[in-house]
Amino acid sequence: MQATLTVLGSGTSMGVPTIGCACAVCRSSDPHDRRTRPSIMLSYRDPGDNDRHVLIDTTPDFREQALREHITQLDAVLYTHTHADHILGIDDLRPLTYHHKPGRMPLYATPRNCEFLRNMFRYIFEADYKFGGLPLVELKPIEGAVELFGARFEPVTVIHGETPILGFRFGSAAYLTDHSSVPPDSLAKLRDLDILFLDALRYKPHPTHSTVEQSLEIVAEVKPKRAFFTHICHDLPHEATNAALPPGVQLSYDGMKLEFEI
Ligand SMILES: [Zn+2]
Ligand SMILES: [Zn+2]
Ligand SMILES: [Zn+2]
Repeated sequence: MQATLTVLGSGTSMGVPTIGCACAVCRSSDPHDRRTRPSIMLSYRDPGDNDRHVLIDTTPDFREQALREHITQLDAVLYTHTHADHILGIDDLRPLTYHHKPGRMPLYATPRNCEFLRNMFRYIFEADYKFGGLPLVELKPIEGAVELFGARFEPVTVIHGETPILGFRFGSAAYLTDHSSVPPDSLAKLRDLDILFLDALRYKPHPTHSTVEQSLEIVAEVKPKRAFFTHICHDLPHEATNAALPPGVQLSYDGMKLEFEI
């Protein structure tokens, strides 16, 4: 099936511009240098000819991202992990969950992350509100690949500092955010890709995130047709960084759209 990947956010946890920072990238007039927190959406037509939209992560910027991209429907959310920059927009799913009545919008995460989300957002999952006002969502623990509306989403484990978290492969594309390393078993799941998204925070090493250089090594190893970097901080000016990257590798940016086979 033909699918569209929309980059909702390409920025690191603090976003770019960063609050209180007056560096050149934070003051840049290039719209590509404005990066909201990291998330993508996959859109495709299912075998029953219905449009489907699957979100990866609900960032604190989800509301702005949804308004910017005119999102009117969301069918499911997949979570990579439970850091604040990937989950705090959960409440803004609210208007999009109403279309799921009398059901609930499914949220897929590892069993451990489902437990974390249940505890973190007790007001949603243990609610006793008489008058609504809550997102109508349900947690769906996943142990392995999940099929959503005719498309297969395969978890790809990456290491984020000391913690294993999830990336996902879906058809000819894969999205890995928040990794400091990618284990060999996971690299093996990334063969023959048209599109590969990788974490590339900055040039300087970081304990929990990949650098431009480290992610270029992954690109050289798995050889996707095109690679895009995300979770980018204010150390990387869009235009100058892109000019220095090898062919087939680019920084992603908020609002970027890519076509691929899912
Ligand atoms: Zn993050
Ligand atoms: Zn800055
Ligand atoms: Zn993280």
